[in-house]
Amino acid sequence: MVWIKRGLLVGLGLIVLGFIGFNVFKKQIATAIFERAVDRNAGVDRSASLPDGLHVYMCGTGSPMPDATRAGPCMGILAGDRAFVFDVGSGGVRNLGSMGFPMARLDSVYLTHLHSDHLDGLGELLLMSWINGNRSEPTPVRGPRGTAEVVSGFNTAYRIDSTYRVAHHGPEIANPNGYGGIADEITLPAGPGGMQVVLEEGDLTITAIRVNHAPIEPAFGYRIDYKDRSISISGDTVYDAGFVAASRGVDIMLHEALNRDMVQTIGGVLGERGITNGEVIFHDILDYHTDPEEAAEAAQEADATELVYYHIVPQLPVKLMELVFLGESKSIFDGKITVGADGMLFSLPAGSDKIERADLL
Ligand SMILES: [Zn+2]
Ligand SMILES: [Zn+2]
Repeated sequence: MVWIKRGLLVGLGLIVLGFIGFNVFKKQIATAIFERAVDRNAGVDRSASLPDGLHVYMCGTGSPMPDATRAGPCMGILAGDRAFVFDVGSGGVRNLGSMGFPMARLDSVYLTHLHSDHLDGLGELLLMSWINGNRSEPTPVRGPRGTAEVVSGFNTAYRIDSTYRVAHHGPEIANPNGYGGIADEITLPAGPGGMQVVLEEGDLTITAIRVNHAPIEPAFGYRIDYKDRSISISGDTVYDAGFVAASRGVDIMLHEALNRDMVQTIGGVLGERGITNGEVIFHDILDYHTDPEEAAEAAQEADATELVYYHIVPQLPVKLMELVFLGESKSIFDGKITVGADGMLFSLPAGSDKIERADLL
């Protein structure tokens, strides 16, 4: 008994001493943690250790609805040593930075369509690309008709800021010729299923696919093939047979998803509470998105290996709610289903059929 009591006293004494020690030295401890973090991260290209292949950085899996855990739609793509960003919703650029996406070698940006939630981070992205990449030419932004007007607007909005950067850091660091974006509008064949290869270089092919997000027109999805690996990105669309056909055999189908029953429930409550605007909006958005179960059908028909949902509506603040969101999706699609979250990195090494996931945030 005496020994146990003595042991307890010694243990308690050590805890008290540890607590006092921590308080006395906490500034030194914090400084050491900071210096270690700087050493591990500053100037280190964390993507350099990834295997050759196709990599998807989920920088934004949310929608226009405010959501502290999900940035607006955004996907960083590495294909070999080429880096791209597909859509850039607000918050996406910060996630790319935190995830170690190699912004310094960003090749270009692709937009699916010109709804603001898909491009409201573009100004921030172009700034990061310019300064981190020490660019001497603007960053290409490719997308549907109207992209030039959007890019021109961002260039105007950030022009004054660019003069500050050049004046402060000098043209060697902030080359005025590399500031902003340069638009390249893609025109696809008219009608459902219209698609076209928009980049073909070496082992990499990017195909733009017309999708149905009426009345927003044109709206694109994309397919990216690198060596023997592939992904498709739906953009915003209803279930679209053309997108399904273009996605045949992909390793990962990234599909937008809006659960209609959940959205109708929200709209109904807003209506009961006399918030007519909200009720109408929650009704209107039902007709130009895809229910998770329909996206599961799309993945099944395309024979995709894995289905990853993004552009998730409504918000799912509690993980358990994913069960409601998914509905019967898992009985519709034979492959793996993942409810995408910000910070996920999917790696598809070339020459294998592996799909690896890391959670970087
Ligand atoms: Zn959207
Ligand atoms: Zn949209």
